[in-house]
Amino acid sequence: DELLKRPDVEVTVVDRLPTPYGLVRAGVAPDHPETRAIDRLFRQIEEQPGFSYLLGVEVGTDVTHADLAERFDAVLYCTGAPFDRALDVPGGDTTMTATDLVAWYNGHPDRSSSLWHYAFDLSHERAVVVGNGNVALDVARILATDPTLLEASDVADHALAALRSSAVREVVVIARRGPAQSAFTLPEITGLVGRDDLEVVVEGDLDGLDDPKVDALRTARPRPGARRIVLRYLSAPVRVHERGVDVARTELVADGSRAVLTDDVTTIEAGLVLRAVGYRGRPLPDLPFDVATGTVPHDHGSVDGVPGTYVAGWIKRGPSGFIGTNKSDAAETVDRLFADLNAGLLTAPTARDSLAALVRSRGVTPVDLDGWRRIDVHERRRGLVEGRPRVRLTDVDEMRATAAVSAPVRRRRPRARRVAWGA
Ligand code: NAP
Repeated sequence: DELLKRPDVEVTVVDRLPTPYGLVRAGVAPDHPETRAIDRLFRQIEEQPGFSYLLGVEVGTDVTHADLAERFDAVLYCTGAPFDRALDVPGGDTTMTATDLVAWYNGHPDRSSSLWHYAFDLSHERAVVVGNGNVALDVARILATDPTLLEASDVADHALAALRSSAVREVVVIARRGPAQSAFTLPEITGLVGRDDLEVVVEGDLDGLDDPKVDALRTARPRPGARRIVLRYLSAPVRVHERGVDVARTELVADGSRAVLTDDVTTIEAGLVLRAVGYRGRPLPDLPFDVATGTVPHDHGSVDGVPGTYVAGWIKRGPSGFIGTNKSDAAETVDRLFADLNAGLLTAPTARDSLAALVRSRGVTPVDLDGWRRIDVHERRRGLVEGRPRVRLTDVDEMRATAAVSAPVRRRRPRARRVAWGA
């Protein structure tokens, strides 16, 4: 969107999946349709002159960075942070991750094969989520919600089936620091505490704390008989095992910026222990990578040592902030890109063929905007029959087949502009 606001720009968006929209499609929780509605904005962006898709094309597998650099004036990576931070305690690597669960309930093709349908142990009455951010609240809510309330959402079919037979009635969210250091945001906790169908129980001392999120926690009321989410503070995992997780009581030091463990250890019995302790970026082929931060080193979005190559979003900044944060982040990168252009630092494309032609010559059929529209219409039609916003395709081959059906796609397509830019 930022690029297309400038005159005479063309943008090709490449994604390894045949569907676009990243976390809006595969990250936002299905019970948050108002957040997903941002896809209306994406639709407006992809209708603009100069915009095109090459979906179902993976950089590093189907094409290289050099292939992109030879065909575009600039290459901009917005690949997010798809990995999870580790939980560095004995047994921590045996925990399932919130990323897995989120991808599973959203029907991401990587977590939708039949092997994944019943991959999460929902046979125990209690599940534990380690971490205290918005992702922890998302997964806690979905695990605790009565599945009949999700039937009208676009939750993946396999997830709905597993949740229908779930025995989970309590989800314990453990935070190593205190209520005033909660990582979730005010709207998320307000929304959760305000739900009639869930009981939110705070296990932590709220006395004397002056913080809007703590004020929201104070409004939590008993709802006897309801499914429960327990927010347990000053508790850090020290060992994960077959029966659940051992947690140590912690004490805050350095003005609450750190928690130290005490010897007071208890066991929380649970069938499923999930970690939701933050994401990490994945190294990109042929680009530098800072292992400590999980990001690509850059200067205002321009990748260190790789002229004409840029980053925006979580791969640039790390996994924090909202959609709005990423918009201003993108604006900074695009400003830098145009400063480089005006300073004559960008090299014009040298290859004679287009990226689409190159990809086809390698046996990959890219999905374009019309193809994505066909997938979208197909999913919405299936949803209409069931009274849901959409029923997702979760298999890449089925997505490609649906995209390839040569039914006409009705949409306004304005005339394209001149100069080529890559993204
Ligand atoms: P996050 O906000 O960074 O929260 C990570 C949580 O994990 C923190 O509570 C952190 O505790 C805890 N943690 C980290 N390492 C730990 C360890 N070793 N043991 C125990 N706890 C540990 O990350 P996130 O929840 O993944 O969210 C990522 C971003 O996406 C955020 O900006 C979030 O707001 C955004 N998001 C937004 C929405 C929404 O708006 N609805 C939904 C999902 C995600 P400490 O604070 O003590 O380090």
